[in-house]
Amino acid sequence: MNATHYDRLIYDLSVKGRRGTMLGKNRFDDAFSSLPGNLMRGEAPALPEADEPTVVRHYTNLSMGNFGVDTGFYPLGSCTMKYNPKINEEIASMPSFNRLHPMQPADTVQGALKAYHDLQTALSEIGGMAEFTLNPYAGAHGELTGLMVIRAYHMSRGDMARTKVIVPDSAHGTNPASAAVAGLKVVEVKSLADGTVDVDALRSLLDGSVAAVMLTNPNTLGLFERSIPEIAEMVHDCGALLYYDGANLNPMLGVARPGDMGFDVMHINLHKTFSTPHGGGGPGSGPVGVRAGLEQFLPNPHVVKVEEGGETKYRVENRDGSLGRISSFLGNFTVELKALAYILTLGREGLALAGPLATLAANYIKESLKDDYLLPIEGLCKHEFVFDGLKDKSTGVTTLDVAKRLLDYGYHAPTIYFPLLFHESLMIEPTETESLETLDGFIGVMRTIAREARENPDIVKTAPHNTPIGRPDDTVAALNPKLKYC
Ligand SMILES: *Cc1c(COP(=O)(O)O)cnc(C)c1O
Repeated sequence: MNATHYDRLIYDLSVKGRRGTMLGKNRFDDAFSSLPGNLMRGEAPALPEADEPTVVRHYTNLSMGNFGVDTGFYPLGSCTMKYNPKINEEIASMPSFNRLHPMQPADTVQGALKAYHDLQTALSEIGGMAEFTLNPYAGAHGELTGLMVIRAYHMSRGDMARTKVIVPDSAHGTNPASAAVAGLKVVEVKSLADGTVDVDALRSLLDGSVAAVMLTNPNTLGLFERSIPEIAEMVHDCGALLYYDGANLNPMLGVARPGDMGFDVMHINLHKTFSTPHGGGGPGSGPVGVRAGLEQFLPNPHVVKVEEGGETKYRVENRDGSLGRISSFLGNFTVELKALAYILTLGREGLALAGPLATLAANYIKESLKDDYLLPIEGLCKHEFVFDGLKDKSTGVTTLDVAKRLLDYGYHAPTIYFPLLFHESLMIEPTETESLETLDGFIGVMRTIAREARENPDIVKTAPHNTPIGRPDDTVAALNPKLKYC
């Protein structure tokens, strides 16, 4: 690929008068000339002018500069970048689904509403919850919605004093952010040296001012929180509710259900666990489930199944007592279709295999690499785990260097410098969809990088060497992004 290519915009390739297509005279031409003069622009817009091959090559080359799950192994921790079967995309793009209008009368979209209702039901079964809303657009949006449900619950009981949310120090940043957006005060609870929640510290924080405790299980270190039954009892005894951040549901699928563990409210990231490609801010979906007794607070609208004149029908309904609308229409429908297709194609048995396989793959990599990389917390992990950089600290090679060097070998980097519990965090999540050969390939390259760090550290410190862009200044890119031409 031409390395200078990334420096050029389609505007740079523009040649005055060059065209890709000729638009014929159409029936609107006359209408345009009769528009009032004050609505017409004085000169033509500055659009790029290029021939078709130039346009196609420009965008095709740009798309090939991206790394994706479809181009290589993507062990990004905390994100579940699993391979998403193409059949789910095909189903979501069926014209009978994607040509629907959200305002169509329910009687004309019974199939779509059935798919929607089936997913609500399947997620309730998977999560062990009474009901799910599919309205939220992302995990963070689900957290906000779930916390709004919790607030509505406390307020419905006249309990106005509950204004705090307790969040572990290992939590994903969206947890405290969502609590703050919901108007609640965030209180942090520490983790023990083994990476799990400090139950005694949590107990000491519980009182009548606590609205909810948010937990992720397995937590952000990929560790299963074993004290959930005890925590659930404590939290409920103090009158608060227990929230489950389900972004890490992958290793639990078909194995354990948050509802059975005592969680009251949960969200699921369909774009992590249920087969929607994500990254780069693509469309997501963060359905929220609640235990029995909290259904009435869920946002409007939702889809119900009713019997009418001996026939099964699906209706879009609004409930009294609901916290109201949190999205337009019914959420990200195509993401929901992909999730339903994924669940139905895997079936109960297939889904129940995903969790154990993800766990096996993570432990396999962890045990294979712990002689070269520092494993701060020993023992069995679930779907992901965290190294604290290279074991040999004398080389001066950092986690950033290792991540950059991986790009040279054709692998996406793991998550780096998160979670914040360690200085050189390198967080690896292989997912259940990678073959043994792929895992072995990654392990081999990680060992090679560790050897390079000992023998020839400069090659790692100056990586990447084969990518069109090397080490951009992340701070400048974030603070001073160039988002438009000129
Ligand atoms: C990804 C993630 C979230 C946030 O989900 P988004 O869909 O990115 O908003 C929350 N918690 C955990 C543990 C996550 O991994």
